[in-house]
Amino acid sequence: MQSRFQDNFVAPNLSDTRLSSKRAYRMLIDGVSKDAVSGQVIDRESPGHRSCVVGAWPQATAEDVGGAIGAARRAFDHGPWPQMSGAERSTILHRVAEGILAHSEELALIECLETGKPLNQARGEIEYCADLWTYAAGQARGLEGDTHNAIGANRLGLVLREPAGVVGIITPWNFPFIIVSERVPWALGAGCTVVVKPSEFTSGTTIRLAEIALQAGVPPGVFNVVTGYGPEAGQVLAEDPRVDVLAFTGSVRVGTHLASIAAAGVKRVGLELGGKGPQIVFADADLEAAADGIAYGVYHNAGQCCISGSRLIVANSVRSALLERLLDLSRRLPFGDPLGEGTRYGAMVSQTHLDKVASYVSAGVKEGAELLLGGDMVAATSGNYFAPTVFDKVRPDMRIAQEEIFGPVLATIGFDTPEEAVALANGTPFGLSASVWSRDLETAIQTTRRLRAGRCWINSVIDGTPEMPIGGYKKSGVGRELGRYGFDEYSQFKGLHMTLGRPQPWFQH
Ligand code: NAD
Repeated sequence: MQSRFQDNFVAPNLSDTRLSSKRAYRMLIDGVSKDAVSGQVIDRESPGHRSCVVGAWPQATAEDVGGAIGAARRAFDHGPWPQMSGAERSTILHRVAEGILAHSEELALIECLETGKPLNQARGEIEYCADLWTYAAGQARGLEGDTHNAIGANRLGLVLREPAGVVGIITPWNFPFIIVSERVPWALGAGCTVVVKPSEFTSGTTIRLAEIALQAGVPPGVFNVVTGYGPEAGQVLAEDPRVDVLAFTGSVRVGTHLASIAAAGVKRVGLELGGKGPQIVFADADLEAAADGIAYGVYHNAGQCCISGSRLIVANSVRSALLERLLDLSRRLPFGDPLGEGTRYGAMVSQTHLDKVASYVSAGVKEGAELLLGGDMVAATSGNYFAPTVFDKVRPDMRIAQEEIFGPVLATIGFDTPEEAVALANGTPFGLSASVWSRDLETAIQTTRRLRAGRCWINSVIDGTPEMPIGGYKKSGVGRELGRYGFDEYSQFKGLHMTLGRPQPWFQH
């Protein structure tokens, strides 16, 4: 199949000087930069400019990870971080946010080159992350417990909020800096210590973040980073009893596996997993705005987004009018070189992933869906690029309607009644996000109430702020991040019962 998108494809410029220097990183354990005990390293090529190695980091094994867990355990058990006042922790976390902003251009470039996302998008993400740290820093001063003053005349109950302990954090490659920043400041704000294992594809910005945090005054051992492959380095965080909480973001397959290991050790687990986000468009929607939102929802980050709006569920009466607008946008959308200033979406993370997306397109065609646009990787380029792809006449039981493709591929399904729209939207194993497009607020709110998804939007998509919770229903995950809810994931609640006056004797002499 030949791509029909060569015209709006931004060809990668291999002579861009920003590609020329390979950055070598070391892990940060107990405040010290370290190589892996084995001496092995992992090289990372820019997925948008194949054969340009842009980063290299240690390939840790269980021995390295064990050392990092030991450091985090000591920093938790002996302090001073967990015993500091909220105000002291808050001051330091604010300084981390300032450090992120001071290094924003450097961080954005690393993120762009390792993930393949457009540099301009990465700049916005880094700024958003500074805001995540700022929000968590502010809240860290106000983490309160509770009192129970109506449990009897001679009794008083206090609920003490305590830090949960050592947190193991495993993150994916699609939004490395955002995801680590959605977890670490909340864990540190709650008084925990952490060991982070970023994706083997995109570890650079996580290491830089830990270095920035150390410089900002986060004590050694509180924020440790180990790099390497999942089964070798990440799994130890689920297995080791010195880790109290495991916070995993990634695929359902790996999340399920880690949760079963953690269950054997009765370890607390937070899971942020995949999605298959519906975008419901009612007949009264502003179709210009909806078409733009649908394009953003499915193409943003080349579709490699857990909260993508990858299923268009549209009222049959406006289906062709909407698709016409969407196809027009898709044909004009500049995609390609992540370093291009006007690029709206860049490269896919790897050739393997590119092949997986292509195999879903073949499955869709084979199962009888109508391919309206795109459908193939862009041939003869030096990066992993996939054209904007739109399917119509998708049946809800097809694989492209049920499974997370994680690429710029839209599956369109028509509906006639609101009941049908809700049933279609809820009809997958996932429940991470959903959008409703309508000019009628009552229709939009009543529909949203019936959606089984943790993050919903009315007349928008892929939106978020540090104040609002995120997380999944069904196979999309367990637990909530961000807002005041995020701190509960990293807290223990202790009930303290106090008796006032002489206790009631248990046995009367
Ligand atoms: P992945 O599950 O392959 O990898 C995620 C992380 O787990 C990586 O760091 C990897 O090294 C590690 N890992 C792999 N095997 C492991 C093992 N046996 N033990 C311990 N760690 C292991 O996911 P991915 O391909 O990096 O990311 C894409 C997935 O992440 C998608 O499904 C996407 O929807 C999901 N995601 C979810 C959210 C969310 O907030 N819900 C956000 C971003 C991505």
